Amino acid sequence: MPIERTLTIIKPDAFEARHVGDIIKILEANHFRIVAARLVRLSRREAEGFYKIHRAKPFFPSLTEFMSSGPALVMVLEGENAIARLREVMGATDPAKAAPETIRKLYASGIEHNAIHGSDAPQTAACEIGYFFPEVELI
Ligand code: GDP
Repeated sequence: MPIERTLTIIKPDAFEARHVGDIIKILEANHFRIVAARLVRLSRREAEGFYKIHRAKPFFPSLTEFMSSGPALVMVLEGENAIARLREVMGATDPAKAAPETIRKLYASGIEHNAIHGSDAPQTAACEIGYFFPEVELI
């Protein structure tokens, strides 16, 4: 299995509900290593840039408003097969469809306010990591 890096965001809903510690505990228990971390409050423009692939979707205005509504913790995680494995540990986008014990099953309140982001492919991961972190900050 390749060692990969992926980007995760503990979204404003989970931050507000004080689940940051719970979520990091799950990530560490699943052998992800934190190689960079930043507490951010995204501007609307930054949220729109991050989610630009979804700009034509009907939920884009509401998603970007949500993502810029409060503090969020952005991290780069490293581990074997990290990109696909994080997606498994997160669970399905819609918590109603997420497997038991996944982060979204445990902490998401709906398809939009779903607690956590994780990159979905190697190219996306590289792009998303670069959106938040200069190479020099990856430890
Ligand atoms: P992810 O990769 O599982 O995060 O899902 P997507 O890339 O498809 O969507 C990005 C984010 O947009 C999701 O994590 C949700 O916060 C939000 N989202 C996705 N689908 C919907 C939807 O149908 N309605 C709403 N309101 N938000 C959505």
